[in-house]
Amino acid sequence: MLRILLFLLVFCPTFLHAQNIRIGLFSDKSIKEIEGIVGKGTYFVFKDSLQLVKIGSADVLKASYSAGLIRITVNGIEKGRGKSFRIIQDKQEDYLQLRLISPAAKQRSYEGDFDIEIRKEALSLINNLDMETYLEGVVESEGGPGQKLNYYKAQAVISRTYAMKYWSKHKENGYNLCDRVHCQAYLHHRSATVTIDSAVHQTRGLIMLDQNNELYPTYFHANCGGQTSEPQYVWNEEIPNLCSFKDTFCIHTQQAKWEKRIPKEQWTKFLVDKYNFPISDSVSNELLNHFVQEQRSAFYLHPIYGIPLRDLREQFKLKSTFFDAEIVGEEMLLHGRGFGHGVGLCQEGAMNMAKKGYTYDQILGFYYPEMKLVDRSVFIDK
Ligand SMILES: [Zn+2]
Ligand SMILES: [Zn+2]
Repeated sequence: MLRILLFLLVFCPTFLHAQNIRIGLFSDKSIKEIEGIVGKGTYFVFKDSLQLVKIGSADVLKASYSAGLIRITVNGIEKGRGKSFRIIQDKQEDYLQLRLISPAAKQRSYEGDFDIEIRKEALSLINNLDMETYLEGVVESEGGPGQKLNYYKAQAVISRTYAMKYWSKHKENGYNLCDRVHCQAYLHHRSATVTIDSAVHQTRGLIMLDQNNELYPTYFHANCGGQTSEPQYVWNEEIPNLCSFKDTFCIHTQQAKWEKRIPKEQWTKFLVDKYNFPISDSVSNELLNHFVQEQRSAFYLHPIYGIPLRDLREQFKLKSTFFDAEIVGEEMLLHGRGFGHGVGLCQEGAMNMAKKGYTYDQILGFYYPEMKLVDRSVFIDK
């Protein structure tokens, strides 16, 4: 047996990639009732190891929570009650269209198998599928449509590395990762976009390690505004490998600049109430007139006042901490750059690099210093 396993490990790297991942779907909802329609192929509903019913495209499957049990119906006829059910696909590309009835939510389609369980007096719906198929859905959800192949390839490596690094993030919920931005957005299965399929296939199994051979911290954000952030400024802690540097690839893109006006009174009240800002002191007051960040700073005005820019971003819901500010009449006028926390890879910069002909490994190498691309079997063997 051991010899067979060793053979598989050495000669069939695909064996290692055929790992399944469990994703919590509609994970922010307390699901009471859900409807499933077969989008393609055939599904089988199981209770324990017993097959209850086979469903095809004309059937409507419903699962509802009632008095501590899950009730399964097909076309309005009850097929079973119990604590857990499995819905298994017939062929690999078969998928289900899922629609939440209570609470109501937009329909989403997913490939793979599904487990329905009970958690906190509601249904817990888990998508159980091949890791690479999951990544196709994630790359599209995170990267959006219409990008170049090398951008999607970079995103595929990031998302694969993330999935492995945070494999146990939702252990207490009974799955690996959730479907939200909290982990990685996974809003549907792959669509017809061939570029995304190719991006996942062509990077199959590839992950990023740092110089200590640990999984790389794959932080990313929408736009850095021309300079990435120090992790220390954002989360008050250092993250190995990641540091601030200039990025000229994103400065002419969509989210490179923003403006916001905030009533001056609201702004200064926050500074005084929370940080005892000496508003009546004429030197400090004068500073408020003009605040400029040529480089990204950690603090507003001067470190001496101890006002972290990240607090202002949170309080006033700013797109980034990379802004200049001036007083215009009764308002603070903010001129900002970038969107997001600014740590790690800048998505709009990476998209632009791909448009200019950079390859995915050059893109990753630019935003993630000292990263090494390896097959994930190397990491599993470690
Ligand atoms: Zn999560
Ligand atoms: Zn950037």
